[in-house]
Amino acid sequence: MKIKNYINGELVTPFSDSYIDNFNPSVGEIYGQIPNSNNKDVEEAYQSAKKAFPAWSTTTLANRSKILSNIARLIEQKLDVLAEAEAKDNGKPLSLAKAIDIPRASSNFQFFADAITQFSSEAHESVGLGVMNFTLRQPIGVVGCISPWNLPLYLFTWKIAPAIAAGNCVVAKPSEVTPMTAYLLSEICIEAGLPKGVLNIVHGLGGTTGQAIVAHPNIKAISFTGGTKTGAHIASVAAPMFKKLSLELGGKNPNIIFADCNYDDMLATTVRSSFANQGQICLCGSRIFVEKSIYKKFKKDFILKVSELKVGNPFDANTNIGALVSKEHLQKVTSYIDIAEQEGAKILFGGKKVEVKGSENGYYLQPTIIEVNDNQCKLNQEEIFGPIVTIMPFSSEEEALQLANDVVYGLSATLWTNNLQRTMQFSKLLQTGIVWVNTWLLRDLRTPFGGTKASGVGREGGFEALRFFTEPKNICIKYE
Ligand code: NDP
Repeated sequence: MKIKNYINGELVTPFSDSYIDNFNPSVGEIYGQIPNSNNKDVEEAYQSAKKAFPAWSTTTLANRSKILSNIARLIEQKLDVLAEAEAKDNGKPLSLAKAIDIPRASSNFQFFADAITQFSSEAHESVGLGVMNFTLRQPIGVVGCISPWNLPLYLFTWKIAPAIAAGNCVVAKPSEVTPMTAYLLSEICIEAGLPKGVLNIVHGLGGTTGQAIVAHPNIKAISFTGGTKTGAHIASVAAPMFKKLSLELGGKNPNIIFADCNYDDMLATTVRSSFANQGQICLCGSRIFVEKSIYKKFKKDFILKVSELKVGNPFDANTNIGALVSKEHLQKVTSYIDIAEQEGAKILFGGKKVEVKGSENGYYLQPTIIEVNDNQCKLNQEEIFGPIVTIMPFSSEEEALQLANDVVYGLSATLWTNNLQRTMQFSKLLQTGIVWVNTWLLRDLRTPFGGTKASGVGREGGFEALRFFTEPKNICIKYE
């Protein structure tokens, strides 16, 4: 199947007529082709967005909201088709795509359809001077949205929905590794009555299509989610052009477990926070630190629970862990198992590729638990982004905090304790943008989302996203 770009409200072939193979990772086979778009396609997308901007930016909030709601509703209606496409393209269990990815993509549109009707700006009266200031929040113009492969439609819509809700027109690029649901979204946008040019989706490689969006002189803001190295490159291109930048990057998140936690709840959630989506969620807790007094028990129970997870074809209803997204990624992830051996770490469970019956060429790996004794090892310092976690004991609160913060990343942290004082202290001192206490991945779309340190700059979510996608302008009126 050959998919198309979505430019000026139409599905079009790329100028070069060149295509990239698209793989189904669960069987390791090519099943489609995607446009290998170049500068010309991006320019065409930009021109169509530019043309659409004056009308879209002055469309009433009620109308914008209605169109976004239409898109949300259509995503919901097409749940099965979209979930199947996501599982096939990405390798994730169909059950996960049905329960999380697609419903969340729909809620992203519905949330910003509602949020834009509640968004407001500020007024400041300079009392006694006869002066009133008010602040406009104006759309930026044409903006770029670039997203990764791990939660394809979920993260793509998390950027596009606030951008268009705020009145911008968008040139967007999904990951070339998982383009399918973005393509289906273009069909949905046409059906939902989104005016031509408001959203343009250009498929292609990061280094060419993505680069052309980032380097385009008139695309004034870039919202990017992806790896830290790519984020640094994007910043080096966009910053000298004074573009607004939102960078949601990698993570190496600590999961800190104290003996006073609700043990069963912690254990079940820790299995999820380690291996959901094959460990390919930027928020997965990949460094597990456990208080010494329960370390032995945790180790035994955790290994047992993880050994019960079924690695299998995404379309098998019993599958807990599907395929990794690509052959290259599988190779990268398994290279850390070799590193574990070189670093003298102990593989407690897993570490081997899995041959799934009927899908022998798919990219499957066992969920893997590695015991480390030094937080400075590569396994604890580098983002692996796969089904591999490390575990390590700690003796005191001070040590746990030091271990948690001693990493370049700062996306999220999970804390398991019932001690209120400790909860408050850790919440303040953890160097991350998100802290979960006695839970994981519980999201309220109104809350700020993003990381510190090498995990990024800026925040998505709620009004933070609408603020990012608008330019504040202060008007100062002297009336006396
Ligand atoms: P990449 O950084 O490789 O790619 C992300 C996107 O950027 C893709 O669409 C990619 O295209 C594109 N891209 C690559 N190079 C350029 C460039 N020079 N200019 C513009 N765009 C470019 O990340 P992955 O897709 O491998 O995703 C995994 C990473 O994403 C992990 O590090 C993970 O932690 C992070 N992530 C962060 C999240 C957060 O919220 N903080 C959430 C989810 C993931 P192409 O695919 O064609 O290379």
